[in-house]
Amino acid sequence: MTATAQKETLDFQAEVSQVLNLVIRSLYSNKEIFLRELISNASDAAEKLRFEALSNDALYEGDSALKIRVTVDPEAGTVTILDNGVGMSRQEVNDTIGTIASSGTRKFLENLSGDKAKDSQLIGQFGVGFYSAFIVADKVTLTTRRAGMKADEGVRWASSGEGSYTIENVERTARGTEIVLHLREDEKEFLDAWRLRSIIGKFSDHIAIPVEMLKEAEPVEEGEEPKAAVEWEQVNRGTALWMRNKSDISDDEYHDFYKNTCHDFEAPLSWVHNRVEGTNEYTSLLFVPTRAPFDMWDREQKHGVKLYVRRVFIMDEADKLMPHYLRFVKGVVDSDDLPLNVSRELLQHDKKIDSIRSANVKRVLGLLEKLAKDEPEKYQAFWKEFGKVLKEGPAEDFGNREKIAGLLRFASTKSEGDVQDVSLDQYIERMAEKQEKVYYITADTLSAARNSPHLEVFKKKGIEVLLLTDRVDEWLVSHLTDYKGKHLQSVAKGELDLGELDDKETREKVEKAAEEHKHLIERVKTALGDTVKEVRLSSRLTESPACLVVDDYDMSQNLARVLKQLGQDAPMPKPIIEINLEHPLLQRMDSETDEDKFDELAKLVFDQALLAEGGQLDDPAGFVHRLNRLMLDMSA
Ligand code: ADP
Repeated sequence: MTATAQKETLDFQAEVSQVLNLVIRSLYSNKEIFLRELISNASDAAEKLRFEALSNDALYEGDSALKIRVTVDPEAGTVTILDNGVGMSRQEVNDTIGTIASSGTRKFLENLSGDKAKDSQLIGQFGVGFYSAFIVADKVTLTTRRAGMKADEGVRWASSGEGSYTIENVERTARGTEIVLHLREDEKEFLDAWRLRSIIGKFSDHIAIPVEMLKEAEPVEEGEEPKAAVEWEQVNRGTALWMRNKSDISDDEYHDFYKNTCHDFEAPLSWVHNRVEGTNEYTSLLFVPTRAPFDMWDREQKHGVKLYVRRVFIMDEADKLMPHYLRFVKGVVDSDDLPLNVSRELLQHDKKIDSIRSANVKRVLGLLEKLAKDEPEKYQAFWKEFGKVLKEGPAEDFGNREKIAGLLRFASTKSEGDVQDVSLDQYIERMAEKQEKVYYITADTLSAARNSPHLEVFKKKGIEVLLLTDRVDEWLVSHLTDYKGKHLQSVAKGELDLGELDDKETREKVEKAAEEHKHLIERVKTALGDTVKEVRLSSRLTESPACLVVDDYDMSQNLARVLKQLGQDAPMPKPIIEINLEHPLLQRMDSETDEDKFDELAKLVFDQALLAEGGQLDDPAGFVHRLNRLMLDMSA
């Protein structure tokens, strides 16, 4: 006997125990899903074998009729799920069943709140698959052999789900996996074969692998011997749902299919189902989920579209089928024309794939447009979950930039609270007469944006300004500079040019004042020295003494701050300070004859302006000292 053949008792990783407890507790009200999860794993294993066998026929070991069988043993109190799929080696069992290795899982655990309702939703977004067996079983035995390995390389894994499991090598001639659930005392209802059939019908009708159960014995006539032969019958429909005519498919069927194949516990928000004929024939069935997965911001976040070729599963997460900014879309693409042995590398350069991808994008964007138009509430729900991802679109997909821009939603000075529900079209439609540009402000938080001094003149004139406070917004506006012929203009950049909105007199007044106060401007410039690029009079301010802006082509102060927070050492753009002559503080400065005092005041005004837009002071202690001196001066 080899060392690895010995029976070992191993502790679950701490995380596994945690997940197990949670699964049992929070999914209890929905306990029948254990069967769906195990059948879906079995079906994945069968499809995996089919794929591996494409390049190595021997893996079939002479039996290519893939199937899943479910049996009950009322006396032993067990339900068994058997598949002749790819199976697992000892190493694989250890790696996949006893450990939770992915960083996604750790994040999942970090996100747990202890609130049952919330946590079970989280579970839904996260595949706990196999562990759901412990909802109904107090002991689970899994016996498996990897296709292509020898009979003495079978593996048995057993656990009562309480902290540890055993693993040993066993003889197993049949390839694939057998899972025996020893039902808990109060879960004996699952020994009823009809109950199981109805659960399979509900959840697993559309998995393409046949699920079989024993035919119920015919009632035996008196005096007759009961028939000994066992007969199996297929209990799921077993056709790939996406191949059926869409007019024959009910919403419920789509929902069940989605939950099954995309491993989500919640029904999808919406979907598109298309068959394309011609030189590149394929079917696509794409879903927009209701809720974002917890790992959507992981760099390695998986894409959700599976690739099939003529009904054969080829690969998960086919990222070539959907661009990154639509990575939340899940579903299936089944091609009639790609070769079965298509590899990831091949996908990179395949024209057919490119054309499927761009058609997919059009379909999803079209679906979202329709949702936004016909079901605005649903669209708002979508936006809350996925809006930030969609905002990556204009930078990534130049060709569809305008289309994506039409789907964006923002908070604005004309909307309430923190809802993002103003579209660019809506903005343009209600623009003031003579207004030529779409104005926006970027800031760290919504209140920093709403209360920023930069908005003062816009508020006074009743001009709407979009409030952009997601991190991705800076990225967005650097790629989306125009929409339907209107320029998108930051209110914190460049000279304020309200175009025709400004009356001639105001402009002349500012020019004249600048001329008259040349001396003051010079003094401020001397006091602030290198900290600023320029000092000028403001026409944006009505209430604040000063604000900071940057040149049109400089990086915005907010972006520089975001980059700094992300640990990137971006040089801070040198700001321009704009001062408001109407403000009494500036008038007081103008009459200050003591240059030291003037100097202090100028620095205070600068620091204030930085604070008011949500910036951070380089020398906060210096600011406090200056302020204190000023306060003491006042009381003296
Ligand atoms: P998920 O299916 O979300 O990955 P599971 O806990 O359901 O999570 O399963 C973990 C892993 O165990 C699977 O990814 C697969 O590698 C393996 N596995 C589970 N069931 C089977 C099976 N019947 N045959 C082969 N491998 C399986």
